[in-house]
Amino acid sequence: MAVLDQTLRDALRARGQRVTPQRLAIAAAVRDLGRHATAEQIYTDVAGRMPGVSLPTVYATLELLEEIGLVRRVATDGGTALYDPRTDEHHHLVCRLCGAIADVDGAVDHEALMAAARGAGFAPDQAQVVIRGLCAACREAAVPGSVAR
Ligand SMILES: [Zn+2]
Ligand SMILES: [Zn+2]
Repeated sequence: MAVLDQTLRDALRARGQRVTPQRLAIAAAVRDLGRHATAEQIYTDVAGRMPGVSLPTVYATLELLEEIGLVRRVATDGGTALYDPRTDEHHHLVCRLCGAIADVDGAVDHEALMAAARGAGFAPDQAQVVIRGLCAACREAAVPGSVAR
């Protein structure tokens, strides 16, 4: 997608960062995977396109992409960060058994949350809700017939 490439090029240049083939390939991998992926999964995808890319480069680039606003980081159980190509406001469902993660849209009183965070002396820049529980597949495996289809 040329638009993303251009956005990335402009954002990198605006930060005095070099536009490298590695950075472009990593951004393309995040976009093409099209789901919540770990840095290792993104690395595997990029290494297939561009041998010689290192995992530390992938981590550093993902951090940069997050700063620029081209990916969002989702915190999950166990501290493994997932990188999300969807950057508009949304929330996540995380299954406590299988670790499946899915987007969920719903109204959240964002301003109230941010105001509470500021009240605690915090300087918030982003809020996202993580809803934990059991996904449909795990519920069905535990108690067959429990999930209405
Ligand atoms: Zn599950
Ligand atoms: Zn998401």
